Amino acid sequence: MATAHSTVFFYVTGRGRRLAEDLERRYPDARKQRFSKGAVKESWTKGGKLVFIMAAGIVVRAIAPLLRDKRTDPAVVLLDESGSHVVSLLGGHLAGANACAKEIAAVLGGSAVITTATDVSGLPALDLWAEREDLAVEDWKQLPKTGVRLVDQRTLLLFSDVPLDAPGAFLPTEDPALADIVVTNKEGQARLDALLLRPRNLVAGVGCNSGTPAGEIEDAIRQVLAAHKLSFLSVRAIATIDKKGSEPGICGFVKKSGLPLITFSPGELNRVAGVTPSPAAWRATGARAVAEPAAILGARGGVLIVQKQRMGNVTVAIAEGTRKNARGADPQAKPVRGTIRVVGTGPGSADYLTPAALTAIRESDVIVGYGPYLDLLEGLIAGKERMTSGMTREIDRCQTAIDLSAEGKTVSVVSGGDPGIYAMAGLVLELLKKGGDPSAVPVEVIPGISALNACAARLGAPLMHDFATISLSDRLTAWRTIEERLEAAARADFVIVLYNPKSGTRRDHIRKALQIILRYRTPATPVGVVRAAMRKHESVKVTDLAHMPFDEIDMQTTVIVGNSKTIVWNNLMITPRGYERKEKWADMAGQIGEGATAEKPDSPQPENSDKSLR
Ligand code: SAH
Repeated sequence: MATAHSTVFFYVTGRGRRLAEDLERRYPDARKQRFSKGAVKESWTKGGKLVFIMAAGIVVRAIAPLLRDKRTDPAVVLLDESGSHVVSLLGGHLAGANACAKEIAAVLGGSAVITTATDVSGLPALDLWAEREDLAVEDWKQLPKTGVRLVDQRTLLLFSDVPLDAPGAFLPTEDPALADIVVTNKEGQARLDALLLRPRNLVAGVGCNSGTPAGEIEDAIRQVLAAHKLSFLSVRAIATIDKKGSEPGICGFVKKSGLPLITFSPGELNRVAGVTPSPAAWRATGARAVAEPAAILGARGGVLIVQKQRMGNVTVAIAEGTRKNARGADPQAKPVRGTIRVVGTGPGSADYLTPAALTAIRESDVIVGYGPYLDLLEGLIAGKERMTSGMTREIDRCQTAIDLSAEGKTVSVVSGGDPGIYAMAGLVLELLKKGGDPSAVPVEVIPGISALNACAARLGAPLMHDFATISLSDRLTAWRTIEERLEAAARADFVIVLYNPKSGTRRDHIRKALQIILRYRTPATPVGVVRAAMRKHESVKVTDLAHMPFDEIDMQTTVIVGNSKTIVWNNLMITPRGYERKEKWADMAGQIGEGATAEKPDSPQPENSDKSLR
């Protein structure tokens, strides 16, 4: 669901409607819609994704007359009213139905039903890969045939004369005649049954006499390409002098072909060295030449591979860019500038992932994070590039995330809970600060539900009054400092939330911490111990300082120690805010009248102070 297109949830029954409403809340770009053939038809042509909560038969009958072409039909996803099966029905790859089905299944805790063969065999999807690498498909009929060969053979031979990121299942070959997939802008290299993909790395520089018709311009470009055995599908853009930017023939051709038009001033064109001068152009425009320098500039410092050819009223020259440069030459293409988001994914289950975090993850090309956290997100990030802790250390990982975003990728660095609480946000910002240029990469921190929120909710209401959070990990903080903070928080009667209570190496931190707290609190002080909140094997225990289940505390546990006022009721912790005293105060004020000197609820309570000063 990486595109900006919206998603429509169609429903029939009341139960379907409630599920649609639930999904609508989680997807900011989605809307629900009562099912009717007319409504489906209307959404069909708008692109986006159509999700149907109803029986398969209704859907198949409704969409049958609308089916046109795999390249333009929208994604169709189908789910039963209980949300337990989410079927990718149409547009599995390019339209994104597989990813959409997996995502909805992850959000609802159901299972996705995927039938496209490559996915089922764990092999790469050819169409998605071609799109990601910005390669044009020469013949769409060849795509499923090559897909079948991939499923049967498990590998394919790949020839490419441009640099590419290719999946491991594609084995490189130097010989185009052997290859199953051939990536080149040149004609006549591939076997007839090969899948031919065209890198969009050519820019056609064009000049013409006034009034030349669009058809003549198109013919000239096609003939020049054909004469030099170059594919029209590799043409990325048309380039010319600014004066010709409004020439009807050129405008007509770019409109028909859908190619972007890039124009340059005479001054810009004249700065390009090594081009063939044209006296006619000089007289008419003040530029020494048009087609050749425009092609070179259009391909961003590309190499001129076809010198100016005069074809009647038209001159054509072709430059080849490195793919990245040629991509940058497209004024409609996204600028090469990514973003980096530091995203909090909450305590564990999808129910506690915010819609904003979900959107950020959906929009990302690359996901960076700890392996176990990424596993929790499995359904949401299927098909995206990932970097996990197994591969690099934290700093390297964040630096790589920043580098990738500087290259133009949209990157999400994910942390469990909140990303700004004992997590990645600070490190990412520190590294960006080191980089110097604050405008280099836009950065956004997307908050998440932290362990303290999740665990407090499970325990009742322990954080109703001032609290301190202390991490017992001495990996980056000296133990001495941790002890001082424990002491200070205990003395000041803060409720204390202990993160990282136990690690593999230092198993007695939590014992030592509670001993310090016991200097200021009674052994009967309530304590909540929550393990794996909002995850599969969650456990919640309410106890007190004298009865700590030390053996049950691990890296997935958070411990909340109450303050001197915290009580336990119905196995829940309550730290009173002071409403009771407020009532008492109001009563007293009522009895004594205005200006009463009764103690106000927010001032310190004397009955604490003896304990606090001990
Ligand atoms: N950024 C995270 C904290 C990372 S530090 C957040 O905001 O929650 C890791 C510690 O967080 C763990 O050792 C544990 O103390 C706590 N923690 C994280 N997820 C938890 C969960 N689901 N249940 C209980 N504690 C959790």
